[in-house]
Amino acid sequence: MQSNNQSLIQRDLDVLWHPCSQMKDHEQVPLIPIKSGQGVWLEDFDGNRYLDGISSWWVNLFGHANPVINQALKQQLDTLEHVILGGFTHQAALELAEKLVEITPSGLDKCFYADNGSSAIEIALKMSFHYWRNLGQTQKTKFITLENSYHGETLGALAVGNVALYKETYGPLLMDVITVPGPDCYYRENGETWEDYSVRRFVDMERALAQHAESVCAVILEPLVQCAGNMRMYHPIYLKLLREACNKYHVHLIADEVAVGFGRTGTLFACEQANISPDFICLSKGLTGGYLPLSAVLTGNNVYQAFYDDYQKLTAFLHSHSYTGNALGCRAALATIGLFQTQDVLGNNRRLAAAMDKVTERFKEHPHVAEVRRTGMILAIEMIKNKHTREPYSWQQRRGLRVYQYALSQGVLLRPLGNVIYFMPPYVINEQEIALMADVAWQGLQLATQD
Ligand SMILES: *Cc1c(COP(=O)(O)O)cnc(C)c1O
Repeated sequence: MQSNNQSLIQRDLDVLWHPCSQMKDHEQVPLIPIKSGQGVWLEDFDGNRYLDGISSWWVNLFGHANPVINQALKQQLDTLEHVILGGFTHQAALELAEKLVEITPSGLDKCFYADNGSSAIEIALKMSFHYWRNLGQTQKTKFITLENSYHGETLGALAVGNVALYKETYGPLLMDVITVPGPDCYYRENGETWEDYSVRRFVDMERALAQHAESVCAVILEPLVQCAGNMRMYHPIYLKLLREACNKYHVHLIADEVAVGFGRTGTLFACEQANISPDFICLSKGLTGGYLPLSAVLTGNNVYQAFYDDYQKLTAFLHSHSYTGNALGCRAALATIGLFQTQDVLGNNRRLAAAMDKVTERFKEHPHVAEVRRTGMILAIEMIKNKHTREPYSWQQRRGLRVYQYALSQGVLLRPLGNVIYFMPPYVINEQEIALMADVAWQGLQLATQD
């Protein structure tokens, strides 16, 4: 029997439980079964096409079915699909580690693999804690985290995050953290620059460090953009000040670049804009160009050396995942990084970003838009009930969902976060496609804010 959308939806709902979904919504909002992808376009089983304006949850960089990545994967598949990484190694894993050490900020010399962003966060937290423990600093057991941050949804990652929607329910299961007011520049005063606000907001971080450093292993944050926290942004100066303060107070800095790494913010890594090196960097999402689940935590030789000793000392980092360093994932990552090295991706992205600015200019004057903000290849439009009092729409009204549904009907995949419409497209999008995305968002915005 020929498959069409309807037949697949029925079969799906019989057996599948989808991520980040109230499944009852699908009584009204139909699932979309995707048959194939090509570049920025997805096609369903009824032949409808959708422009992937959010890079399939921020993972895709160079389009679906990218010929270069496909070719690399086919070769790897015929050579080695996977092998245990405990006691064994393989070419793709070691080449990728060499490459990551080379392209990440200086001082990140050792690469530890896992298979998703949350696991990378767990690893960085455990490594930081364990480092201090191996040094005899057993009083260091806490982490400092920012308001509105997001680091994934396994219990450790959830604990250091701060988005209530995901976290609150599981509160009783989570470790205690020290949460500091963040630099989110949406809340700056009228006329205040991002830089001034970010500096001003650092005072709270400095105070928390001064007060708690003794018991703190690390500060963890998302450099420049708090993506899941409604694409809220801040100035690189905050990272610079944080690096200095972490040195001063002997606390690690964990940069969660799971979402912002690989060119999203305009530089290959967001930390580069502050000219800093974190003690740990967590990478995933774009790492494989959106092909396969893989993540990596990079850290310095100083951290590595604190674990390096005779087995009997029991200082080793015994963390593992079955698919650690999967050969196909590593090969996809190498092909993805290869594309950055053979093309002027960042330069081209600057042109695309300028095009996004241009087509969203008119949103700024809209009576229900509080702000249009952009960092690199992430542009966000904040819908608001009252532009002057800054009263937000209540979340219960689900206005973002209206935009989502309207955009789908027009062949564009946008997936607003609450009241924030955002564009985070693959880097192979062109200017006409950017214009289409913005036109559809505009109509969606009109529709969602008309009552
Ligand atoms: C998506 C995300 C994670 C979690 O990654 P998963 O692969 O979904 O577990 C962690 N941190 C940030 C900043 C993210 O955006």
